[in-house]
Amino acid sequence: MDTPTLAAPTLAIWKLASCDGCQLTLLDCEDELLTLAGQVEIAHFLEASSAVRPGPYDLSLVEGSVTTAADAERVRAIRAESRRLVTIGACATAGGIQALRNFADVEEFRRTVYARPDYIDTLSTSTPVSAHVDVDFELRGCPIDRGQLLEVITAFLTGRKPDIPNHSVCFACKRRGTVCVTVAHGTPCLGPVTHAGCGAICPAYGRGCYGCFGPSGSVNLTALIPLLHRDGMDDRDVERLLRTFNAAAFDREAKEATP
Ligand code: SF4
Ligand code: SF4
Repeated sequence: MDTPTLAAPTLAIWKLASCDGCQLTLLDCEDELLTLAGQVEIAHFLEASSAVRPGPYDLSLVEGSVTTAADAERVRAIRAESRRLVTIGACATAGGIQALRNFADVEEFRRTVYARPDYIDTLSTSTPVSAHVDVDFELRGCPIDRGQLLEVITAFLTGRKPDIPNHSVCFACKRRGTVCVTVAHGTPCLGPVTHAGCGAICPAYGRGCYGCFGPSGSVNLTALIPLLHRDGMDDRDVERLLRTFNAAAFDREAKEATP
């Protein structure tokens, strides 16, 4: 009697408002991608193939933030046909750099930037996917780290929790033996409040972290901001430092830290 073969789990990759850099991280996995392709059926990945298999999907990876009403509708449809949904990157987990609109006048941007502003149909905010649907896991970074991405995919496909620690970049500096740029050189650095995952690349090259992985699991801006002031930053500099790829997430932390 023939043994019935189990169908491979299906993987779908989706894009909302984003630069595609996080999807490129998956393509950049090269050797591992071939192994992965042998373990799963890549059912929807328009950056790699126009061949699309209809849902439902066992695991969906979503890149990008919600910036239009159509995005919001689409992400609800993606959620409905995904057994597990993981958001990848600063855009999808925090609204991305496009969340700078949350602090500005979108109508003014529309009038100033576009020759035909009437063609632009956009929301006044850029929000993470988790503001619209339930999310099973958020993988941070701009872009995400390939090792962490493979860990998350493997974990979900084997039914376990991803082993992604949410400590700060400072831990990674200590682990690789990098001398602290703030203590040794007075260089402003967001490492103490930033989620690890990059391997502390920037301090290893003598520059401060600017927070591309977003807030870590325990953020203490009340302690960090006076240090940034001590190292020569005024309030405007601090605001600009916190308002980059994860502007909305750090802004939430800053508000919570304000008495
Ligand atoms: S998180 Fe960064 S790399 Fe990823 S899609 Fe957004 S802008 Fe691009
Ligand atoms: S900015 Fe910070 S989190 Fe981003 S790569 Fe540099 S050290 Fe890592």
